[in-house]
Amino acid sequence: MKIQELNTKVKNTWCPGCTNNGILFATKQAIVNLVNKKKIKLKNIVDVTGIGCHAKIYDYLNVNGFYSIHGRVLPTMLGIKVGNPSLTVIGFSGDGDTYAEGIAHFVHACRYNTDMTMIVHNNQVFALTTGQATPTTEIGFKDGSTPLGTKEKPLNPIVLALASGATFVARGYAQDSVHLTTLIEQGILHKGFAFIDILQPCITYHNTIPYFTKQIYKLNKNNHDPSNFEKAWIKAKEWDYCFKNNSKVPIGIFYKMKRPAFEAQWPQLKKPWYTIKRKIDWKKIADGFR
Ligand code: SF4
Repeated sequence: MKIQELNTKVKNTWCPGCTNNGILFATKQAIVNLVNKKKIKLKNIVDVTGIGCHAKIYDYLNVNGFYSIHGRVLPTMLGIKVGNPSLTVIGFSGDGDTYAEGIAHFVHACRYNTDMTMIVHNNQVFALTTGQATPTTEIGFKDGSTPLGTKEKPLNPIVLALASGATFVARGYAQDSVHLTTLIEQGILHKGFAFIDILQPCITYHNTIPYFTKQIYKLNKNNHDPSNFEKAWIKAKEWDYCFKNNSKVPIGIFYKMKRPAFEAQWPQLKKPWYTIKRKIDWKKIADGFR
């Protein structure tokens, strides 16, 4: 297939130059690569989005999809995957979406290890509502709702995912679509919960591109071993989501391991329930409510 087949006719309303376009491109390229290698089927892909700038990707990606509600991308993905385990479920969410409203779902998704891929567009602000602080905003960030600067220590989602039992933990950069494509491909192929936190600078309300351009480096060029949990933990703590001049920001796969997927452990899901022919007496069911 060609990448153009994933285009839609919907007008792109992200701000001109928005780095969400890098995530959109990398996702399309990853899908094309995997479909052409016959690793996944296009008709089996389902995307799920939350609410935020990221969620417009639902309109721009020509696959089956579900535009869900704020903070509830992960339970929606779980329902779809358990309903039909043959589907390739890819979730898109924002940092406010995932790490504020959806934080409980995130912790349990890491524990459950359902075979699905979660992509977080982390721009460290609520961009759609003009740039308020989220749980990953750095200390000292000022906006209309925090004129004296945020005082809270940012949450480190890489550390949280590792501590919660995630089996694939990665960080990407929206401005490096080539590297990001390989991360998304590997996340989709991973048999379990794949989590990719993507640094996605919001050029309108929180332009962190100059910082990341200087401070980012790739883990695989640093001989990082993603099967080693202790080393992953050390690398995860290397950057605290604040913008100090002496911090380095690693991107790539921090940790990857095999553990049975949630849905693979339930006998009733081995033969998909929707393929079993059932004769339902709707009248009898309706009569039960009289
Ligand atoms: Fe992109 Fe920020 Fe504009 Fe949203 S507000 S479309 S994240 S640049």
